[in-house]
Amino acid sequence: MTNSSSLLNRDRNYLWHPYSSIDSDQAIFPVKSAHGVRITLTDGRVLIDGMSSWWSAIHGYNHPVMNQALTDQLQNMSHIMFGGLTHQPAVDLAEQLVKVTPESLKTVFFVDSGSVAVEVAIKMAIQYWHAKKQPEKQKMLTIRHGYHGDTFGAMSVSDPVNGMHSLFSDTLIEQFFAEAPCCPFDQPCSESDFSSLRTQLEKNHPKIAAVILEPVVQGAGGMRFYSPDYLIQVRKLCNQYDVLLILDEIATGFGRTGKLFACEHAEIEPDILCLGKALTGGYMTLAATLTTHNIAQTISNGEPGLFMHGPTFMANPLACSAGLASLKLLLNSPWKNRINLIEQQLSIGLKQCNSYPQVKDVRILGAIGVVELHRPVNMSLIQPQFVEAGVWVRPFNNLVYLMPPYIIDKKDLNTLTSAVAAIISNIKD
Ligand SMILES: *Cc1c(COP(=O)(O)O)cnc(C)c1O
Repeated sequence: MTNSSSLLNRDRNYLWHPYSSIDSDQAIFPVKSAHGVRITLTDGRVLIDGMSSWWSAIHGYNHPVMNQALTDQLQNMSHIMFGGLTHQPAVDLAEQLVKVTPESLKTVFFVDSGSVAVEVAIKMAIQYWHAKKQPEKQKMLTIRHGYHGDTFGAMSVSDPVNGMHSLFSDTLIEQFFAEAPCCPFDQPCSESDFSSLRTQLEKNHPKIAAVILEPVVQGAGGMRFYSPDYLIQVRKLCNQYDVLLILDEIATGFGRTGKLFACEHAEIEPDILCLGKALTGGYMTLAATLTTHNIAQTISNGEPGLFMHGPTFMANPLACSAGLASLKLLLNSPWKNRINLIEQQLSIGLKQCNSYPQVKDVRILGAIGVVELHRPVNMSLIQPQFVEAGVWVRPFNNLVYLMPPYIIDKKDLNTLTSAVAAIISNIKD
């Protein structure tokens, strides 16, 4: 028995994978190492990465600058509790995040994962209104097709159909849902796009603490893009109805859509912002919830006078060092230019998919390319085909999409788009 087949057997014996059945017949591929945009499997095959490990590895893998930052931090401490203690990586990273995010965001709460950043955002909104003596404002309002994570609070504001809310109906908090806008990225919205959200606010604003949504790109809930115009209206409506605005930029943050943060497309600012995924360049798990001075002060001056959250691994020094190094790498790179080039090349390379009968839509924004099919792909068939073609592409449902590391060159990106086009063209409709 080869090493990789025994590894696979032990994997099957002991492990769950994301959103999977332990009896799945779907292939799993053992990885030996990853460098730049290349993933090396234990059997020697090399794959070009089209996924950035779910939006996160924006500089590619095994980057010398990232490696050095972590090696250096390791000599000082890998972790120290954050209750009553602080350290330079946390302070430096918080300072940098406040600098690069919208002006009004002034304080940073570090957590371990994106889902928890969303939990913290929801708690902040509720505690804010509690401190303002409006404790009846406890609910969230969101739009359909969203995805905010897998914990219960985050799940409660994610798409009810995708999230199988009926399965958890006795446990899940009931929130308010509005229809998602249909206005494409490059077009203005019409009244019909925001009437649902407005109606919900009109009717329910005394109970609503915050509107939460992913700006411009709805990720795992369907890879939908919508017009920044919608966000401008949302910001106005939130102000009008005295409701906070939480933007979840866990997927869109750090340049992916062509702006450093997607809310910049609309030139609006949230009251609370969630960051994660690319925050550490894919090196460590770390996320952050940022808020305004006013909200932080109000919570701190209200009852019980503290913010009720504090993870064991809060502000982990290794993770914060990775965050600092990643942000520096990004800002010192020609990232805007790179994203523009990726956008152009994705458009050219995926355009032909538009003519396939099995394809419903092709859409590109920044370093995101999406081919939406009429029907869900057969993962057991299609996944090995991508690996055969020398690329790592991980479709879900009826969506085949690319979001490569920003450092990818023209040739490798061409390999990715060609493989996607060829494999989709072979799908029987
Ligand atoms: C991935 C994601 C999350 C959840 O982050 P985890 O680190 O997986 O918990 C939340 N919101 C958005 C928009 C995401 O893309």
